[in-house]
Amino acid sequence: MTDGLFNFDKILNYLPTEEFIVSAYLLVDGKRITKKDYLSELNSMIVKEKERIETSSGLGKNTQKNILNTLDRIKSYVGDSYKYENEKTLLIYAGTSSDLWEVYKLPIILKSKIIIDPKPHTQSLRSLINNYKKYGVLLINREKAQIYQVYLGKIKEYLAAFISEVPARVNFRFESGLREKKILGKIDEKLHQFYKMLNDNIFGFFKENKFDYLILAGRKEIINEFKHYLHNYLKAMVIGTFEEDPSAPEHIILEKANKVISNFEKSSTDQLIDRLIDELEPQKMGVIGLKKTIDALMANNIKTLVYMEDYAARGYACPACGYVTLKIMEKCPYCDNVVIHFNDIIDEIVESALNQGSEIIPVSKNDRFKDCGRIGAISRYKL
Ligand SMILES: [Zn+2]
Repeated sequence: MTDGLFNFDKILNYLPTEEFIVSAYLLVDGKRITKKDYLSELNSMIVKEKERIETSSGLGKNTQKNILNTLDRIKSYVGDSYKYENEKTLLIYAGTSSDLWEVYKLPIILKSKIIIDPKPHTQSLRSLINNYKKYGVLLINREKAQIYQVYLGKIKEYLAAFISEVPARVNFRFESGLREKKILGKIDEKLHQFYKMLNDNIFGFFKENKFDYLILAGRKEIINEFKHYLHNYLKAMVIGTFEEDPSAPEHIILEKANKVISNFEKSSTDQLIDRLIDELEPQKMGVIGLKKTIDALMANNIKTLVYMEDYAARGYACPACGYVTLKIMEKCPYCDNVVIHFNDIIDEIVESALNQGSEIIPVSKNDRFKDCGRIGAISRYKL
């Protein structure tokens, strides 16, 4: 069993077999729902699925039994072993006859639902993966460097480089140019080669699509020294620095990197909200407020959806096609299904936007946005 956010590959590259896979999404966001309520939501979804399987699935007795057992397994996992860690949505993929069992804790609200299919339901997961930025972290001292990737709140170790790997027999003095000498001042030649090698490594890492932004970590004077070697293209991607040694434990590195990342994200989000309010909305390239945001969503005109993380709003949604509205209506105008009242339709909106390929930005704190609508969007085209 894996319990994390990496290893999506197993699910994304899954090849369908005879077996049914249960995909269970459960909204567990502590700002919206209590444990008691999400357990009861899960329970009622399971009861409904069991009834459907037993009465109208047309599946063989054995297959039915396997599916029912898998649903029970999910129920007891969530009730007994699952530990909430501030995620917004819990996503479980469970095989009904194999030992496939994958648990993901997602940082974004998605609609609770259970889907039983010969393959894992991955639409939301795929959109979500595209939505999140990857951060490279380069930790460096004068002996060693270490590269990590932070993605969706998790850290993964990548290559390490050591000054001892710099070839000993190169005639450094002869090789380095005059201009480099000037920058270097008194830097040891071996160190000079080490920094050059690191720049190559990190550039290679970037070309493999391993990060969108870069964080440098180490003692200030070493970072400043190394920055002279960093490719200009990469320099522009540096969003911050922190002090730490390459050999520090992973959880410490993650904690410090997360601080840099959340400061960076906060300031980019604040800038984006100011731009939305001051420029884009007046120029009709953006909307603010629930009703207008829903209109933009229904017109497939959301490039970026922005909403306060704790914002909940009542409304109606069509469970069949995803139509969302604030008005009471009996039937969906698009597919004629019965429209259902929801105490909170924000997760419906987020999910539809994700499925339309919109970028999703949850906002934890922004007083200006809180006062003027708490949800809004940047449009794809002019209204
Ligand atoms: Zn509909």
